[in-house]
Amino acid sequence: MTLMLEPFDNTETVIRAAPIGICITDAEGHFEMVNPAYCDFYGYREEELLGQHFTLVVPEADHASMNDLHQRFVAGDSDLEDTQECEVLGKDGQPRNILAKAARIQDGRGEVKKVTFVVDISERKAMEQRLEYLAHHDELTGLLNRRAGLGLLEEEIQRSRRYATPLCVASCDLDHFKRVNDRHGHAVGDQVLSESARMMKETMRQHDHVIRLGGEEFLILLPGVTQEQASQAVERLRQRLAMTPVAAARIHLTLSAGIAQLADGEEADALLERADRALYGAKHKGRNQVQETAEAHPASESAS
Ligand code: GH3
Ligand code: MG
Ligand code: MG
Repeated sequence: MTLMLEPFDNTETVIRAAPIGICITDAEGHFEMVNPAYCDFYGYREEELLGQHFTLVVPEADHASMNDLHQRFVAGDSDLEDTQECEVLGKDGQPRNILAKAARIQDGRGEVKKVTFVVDISERKAMEQRLEYLAHHDELTGLLNRRAGLGLLEEEIQRSRRYATPLCVASCDLDHFKRVNDRHGHAVGDQVLSESARMMKETMRQHDHVIRLGGEEFLILLPGVTQEQASQAVERLRQRLAMTPVAAARIHLTLSAGIAQLADGEEADALLERADRALYGAKHKGRNQVQETAEAHPASESAS
């Protein structure tokens, strides 16, 4: 059963009292009415908005597309616009995320207007972005996490096979890290980890990938370089770490690493295992050193 409402003349009161932002624009897109919730959300006073074009609250880059959307809706067949999720700008210049739902209405003289309902989803959006970040990154160091890193390794292996370019990995582990925690406490340990991670990122080339596998264990992917070049790069990192005291306590820290170059037909697990074995070799030989895999027989070397 359809409920017919008697025509009533206090629509404006209803709109003003609504807890969500509502605005009415004319066919060209100029604000004719904004409710208090709309003004609060954008940080403008009512008189600052009335008469202005709605693109005042739209980022510059979206002006053309939003204008186009508005014009097509006003001239289109449907009285209800599809819900839009968009980024808007408050008076403070800060971006906000909204869901906007609009309807086409006519005033007493038959002129077409657009009424838009604005739902603030900024918090939800920020939460989603944070979750997306945390799905791929380690919170303490900001490096790629294990899952993202191993995914990237698979991609690099495919690339290496497709273009017949070398790929190396370095399995790295900080030496005697337990002592740092034991002597200085876990918080200092965390600080040392995040400073070491920053140094790793700074020292490696831009298209190398530095990954925190967990604890004080890291994996570096070095696409496009041979084992010898990879060893030199990681050796530079080892020296830099050994020479640079970290954290407020000026702690001297060293790193051991094992390098392996992807061999013909080799899978990720086998490659990582060879790098790990080289890392254990470096630990056994007294730590603070970079060890190459002895049994590497990579495609690029056998071809030359
Ligand atoms: P080795 O030279 O043989 O690698 O010795 P190690 O002490 O570095 O190795 P071990 O595996 O015995 O200890 C690693 C320590 O790293 C133990 C653990 O308490 C610490 N650790 C792991 N994750 C974190 C972390 O997120 N923060 C801090 N502060 N410490 C961590
Ligand atoms: Mg260690
Ligand atoms: Mg370890």
